Amino acid sequence: MKYEHFESVMEKIYGTFGRKIPEGIVIADVWDRVKSLPDAFMDFAHEKLRDEEKLPGNMGLALQRLWPEYLDKNPGIRSAHKDNEGCDNCRGLPGSLPGMFFVYGPDGHRYAVKCVCSRNASLAHWPAWTRSLALERGYLLHDPNTPPEEAVACPAPAPALLSFMGT
Ligand SMILES: [Zn+2]
Repeated sequence: MKYEHFESVMEKIYGTFGRKIPEGIVIADVWDRVKSLPDAFMDFAHEKLRDEEKLPGNMGLALQRLWPEYLDKNPGIRSAHKDNEGCDNCRGLPGSLPGMFFVYGPDGHRYAVKCVCSRNASLAHWPAWTRSLALERGYLLHDPNTPPEEAVACPAPAPALLSFMGT
């Protein structure tokens, strides 16, 4: 999501309780937990949290706990493990699987990352990524040593990885 959107919704949430949004490391921690999620998630969180009696003490955790409910209400995001199609993030990248995709360092080193649509419980502790997050962090979506048209033809990941990823 975009930071500007995050910040403006956070102002609304805190405003509901007559508070100003926190600064520095506090807001950075909350941002860290939600930045890979879609903008619309914050609007959903606002709708939920404005009905609470009190402002949650740990906002990052409160938001994280709303994510599964948001996914349940927006099945398109997690179509991955239901119909095995993945989402717009993980679908169509070389070697990607529903719920995961690969990013490349500038040296061509390949990393498997969990997609925001992943519902794999065994990967719950992995941070979720989007394409834009990967690009922001300086990763590439294609192997820099391979032209994109060749990269598309690269072999599928080994079965062991497939079963690890729960697909
Ligand atoms: Zn996905």
